[in-house]
Amino acid sequence: RKNIGKITTGSKALDDLLGGGVETQAITELFGEFGSGKTQICHQLAVNVQLPKEKGGLNGVVVVIDTEGTFRPERIVQMAKAKDLDPDVALENIYVAQAYNSNHQMLLVDNAKELANKLRKEGKHVRLLVVDSLTAHFRAEYIGRGTLADRQQKLNRHLHDLLRFGELFNAAIVVTNQVMAKPDQFFGDPTKPVGGHIVAHTATFRVYLRKSKGELRVARLIDSPHLPEAEAVFKITERGIED
Ligand code: ATP
Ligand code: MG
Repeated sequence: RKNIGKITTGSKALDDLLGGGVETQAITELFGEFGSGKTQICHQLAVNVQLPKEKGGLNGVVVVIDTEGTFRPERIVQMAKAKDLDPDVALENIYVAQAYNSNHQMLLVDNAKELANKLRKEGKHVRLLVVDSLTAHFRAEYIGRGTLADRQQKLNRHLHDLLRFGELFNAAIVVTNQVMAKPDQFFGDPTKPVGGHIVAHTATFRVYLRKSKGELRVARLIDSPHLPEAEAVFKITERGIED
C-alpha cells in the first residue's frame, strides 16, 4: 500500500490507538452494542475527511451507504460548525444512499464507483466510504432461512468489493457491526459479530466500542497485526467526537 492517507476521528486518543487516524486503502470495522458510538464516529469522519490535511482531513468528499436510516443531516451541521466548516458545503460533500436490502447494499458499491469516477472529473475526490450498518440486512435476511455459509460468502464478496473501492480511490472504508453486550439464549452468541471470521480477516482495523460513564466511550483495538491491542477513552459531545 502506497500513499496511505489518514483521517482524524476528532479524538487524539482514538487516533493514536489507530496509529494516527482512520487509514485509506483499508477497512475499519467499528463494532459494539447500541449507543456505543458507531454511527456518531461515522458522522464525524464524514465531516473530518473534508478538512485540509493539516487539520487531519484529506480534502475529500464521502459516500455513505445508510442501511438503517440513521444518517442525520442536523448532526452533520453541528459537527461541521464545531470544525469551522460551512455546514451547507459539508452536507453537499456527503453523498448518502439508502440500502433497502443486502443485494441493494452490494449494488450501491458499484454505484459509488461510478459516482466517484464522475466526481473525480469535477475535481472532487471520494476519500471515505461508510457502510452503516454492514451487517444489519444480512443478519435480518438470513434468520431462519438460507444458510450461514451463503451469508458468509455474500458478506465476503461485499467486503472485497469495498476493499477494492478503497484501493481504487485511495479511500478509507468504515463499516459498522452491532453486537450485543451479553450472550442471548435464543440466537447463540450475539456478542460475536455477524460475519465473524471473514470480517475479521478482511478488516484491517477492528475497533470494539463500549459505553462508559455519561458521554465517555472506550475503544479497544482487536487483532491488529501491526498495532498493540490497547484502549482509548473518548467523548461524544454536542460538538462531536472529542478527547
Ligand atoms: P446502534 O447499534 O443502535 O446503531 P451506535 O453504536 O450507532 O448504536 P450511536 O448512534 O453512534 O450508537 O450513539 C448514540 C449516542 O451518541 C447517544 O446515546 C448519545 O450518547 C450520543 N449522541 C448522539 N447525538 C448526540 C449529540 N447531539 N450530542 C451529544 N451526544 C450525542
Ligand atoms: Mg448506529
